Amino acid sequence: MNKKGKNIWVFGDYRNYFQNRVTLQLLSRANDLAPGIGAEVCAVILGHDLDEYVGEYIAHGAQRVYVMDHPELKDYNVERYAHLTARLSAGCSPEVILVGATTFGREFAPSLAKRLKTGLTADCIDLSINDDGLLVQTAPAFGGNLIADIVTPDARPQMATVRPGTFQEIPHDYGAEGQVVRVPLPEDLPVPRVRLVSSQRLPQRAQRLEEAAIVICGGRGMGSKTKFKKLFELARLMEGEVGATRPVVHAKWAGHDALVGQAGRHIRPKILLSFGISGAIQHTAAVSSADFIIAVNKNPHATMMKMADVAVVADANQACSALIRELKRRIRE
Ligand SMILES: Cc1cc2nc3c(=O)[nH]c(=O)nc-3n(C[C@H](O)[C@H](O)[C@H](O)COP(=O)(O)OP(=O)(O)OC[C@H]3O[C@@H](n4cnc5c(N)ncnc54)[C@H](O)[C@@H]3O)c2cc1C
Repeated sequence: MNKKGKNIWVFGDYRNYFQNRVTLQLLSRANDLAPGIGAEVCAVILGHDLDEYVGEYIAHGAQRVYVMDHPELKDYNVERYAHLTARLSAGCSPEVILVGATTFGREFAPSLAKRLKTGLTADCIDLSINDDGLLVQTAPAFGGNLIADIVTPDARPQMATVRPGTFQEIPHDYGAEGQVVRVPLPEDLPVPRVRLVSSQRLPQRAQRLEEAAIVICGGRGMGSKTKFKKLFELARLMEGEVGATRPVVHAKWAGHDALVGQAGRHIRPKILLSFGISGAIQHTAAVSSADFIIAVNKNPHATMMKMADVAVVADANQACSALIRELKRRIRE
């Protein structure tokens, strides 16, 4: 244990490991935060046959991993996982618990917070430590019209969920070392009220959007569903993924899994092409980690144009067609 005995815990959500990187992203952020409160970064993982994931968490920044490995835990179950994590937390008193805002995490984290009688900030877009050593949980509030910094001054642990894609994972370190603490299952394991009958994996298109190096986002300025479809062709030529704003999803020009923003996906591509998007905070908060932004808009004063590295004043549909033509010409040559 570190000398002050403080811990930041990251809940290990390892399902669909290669697409779902949120645990690794949180381990990375926890490592940024830990020096601010003199804490050790720990992962907590429940399930069965977990050794591979334990190694991965250490290689990605966990200094200690608490492992509850048992056939009884092989299926993700909110009730059991929250019960066992709460019990472990009561014994170890972590300062902070971070959970990925996956479908499971969104159910698990409130259930855990209630058991621990502490607060929880959902869907944070940033985390930091303030001068008082408190976790500052930055999250959209009041329908996304405000970005609020929330702290939990008294109750412990301080808990937050964070969407996949918000932070960048630390590269895999083969030489990293960490302590593995195997936690035995208590005899009074609750009988879950919900039982998994069967499960089926859905296509992971949305995860690919979060991991894509090139994202082409389209907004209402594309004009129509037919014109919007061109973005898919452009994405195919550029080997990228298509994202969309809320009006586009509402108009059914694109599916809900393409929604980028507060109510959808957070992306961090190397290149973001933004076509006909005004740049409302509910959208830009989820794209601001892009390395390089090219925006096309007929209005040079649109917020999206101001935050772009390259701002092209043009008709979005025409610019998209021109780009497609040019790429096809280069492929033919
Ligand atoms: C609680 C809440 C949550 C929300 N969550 C999300 C979210 O997750 N994601 C999201 O995107 N939005 C979200 N919104 C909606 C958000 O506030 C904006 O309304 C939305 O992002 C605007 O989308 P847009 O840029 O496509 O459309 P508009 O704001 O209408 O902008 C269209 C842009 O296209 C430009 N344009 C028009 N014609 C052309 C043309 N021919 N060529 C080039 N440019 C053109 C215009 O100049 C304008 O800048 C949310 C809102 C609320 C209240």
